[in-house]
Amino acid sequence: MDYYQMGPVKVKPGTTAFGHVPVANRPDGTMVNLPVIVAHGVEPGPTLVVGACCHGDEHEGTMTVIRLGREIDPQRLKGTFIGVPVINVPAFHNMRRGNPYDLYILDMNRIFPGRPDGFLTERIAHTFFQEIVSRADLLIDLHSGANILVQTELVCYERPDSLELAKAVGGPWDILWKGDTFGSGTSNGAAARLGIPSVMLELGGAGGRFDHFEENVDKFVHGIANVMKHFRMLEGTPDLPREYTVVQMLPYPCNHGGLIVPEPGLRLRQWVKQGEKVMSVIDFFGREVEEIRAPFDALVCGRRVYPVVHAGEWAIFLGQRTTE
Ligand SMILES: [Zn+2]
Repeated sequence: MDYYQMGPVKVKPGTTAFGHVPVANRPDGTMVNLPVIVAHGVEPGPTLVVGACCHGDEHEGTMTVIRLGREIDPQRLKGTFIGVPVINVPAFHNMRRGNPYDLYILDMNRIFPGRPDGFLTERIAHTFFQEIVSRADLLIDLHSGANILVQTELVCYERPDSLELAKAVGGPWDILWKGDTFGSGTSNGAAARLGIPSVMLELGGAGGRFDHFEENVDKFVHGIANVMKHFRMLEGTPDLPREYTVVQMLPYPCNHGGLIVPEPGLRLRQWVKQGEKVMSVIDFFGREVEEIRAPFDALVCGRRVYPVVHAGEWAIFLGQRTTE
């Protein structure tokens, strides 16, 4: 019988295994590990890696991977599903975006594929890529708006060879975010250098406190099931949108610290005109100290929900229509 093996985790065909891939020792001698869920099908097919929580306060993806690990029937699976419910484990423990053990100096989604001899965040990123992503035919990295933002459904892809995967997410995921907004050290950027089609999905946020948390997890699960159907890992027909909106998306910062006040009625997926006011920043005395206007005709893709803002922090994510 051919086992599928990943570090100490061994999986028989037609079964699902749960385990940990070691990264490094902690000061107390225990290990920093990457948790992995491996569903190994009975028939050959692609290897899909789904990672979550490389930002430690983005938990929609974590719940999604846990659910997929329970719901995928390996007896009906072609190929292999590898889920990592939390990549940045120290950041997750601390409910923060970054890892406190290297003093929050590194954003994991800027330093992929990591370094084996770098800081702890770089070592975790390296293990994720070296041990797990390097086996992938397809990579999906799950993100959300964390504690401070909410995002609508966004499928971020960088290169033409990831477009088929981006479109296969389907369902309500009809906004394709094209380009390398955050540079070459993202999961998408590093996967592209390995020739692996990849997408980053964004949805939700506000620390999971909104009522929509479970609904958003449903949408992630649905999108990944669509991908698995499209690439023939699961039986069934993916449900795909009739058309996609392709945008180049940019986060716009506040230039003045204060309190954020969105324009009345501002909502996600709304188109705003160039020059239209979308937000104010006010001071403690209620005076407007900054107004934020759309620099182009824009789709509102995400916005800050945490009211306090420092100069330079993200206020709103705006998408400009483009082509595939
Ligand atoms: Zn993120």
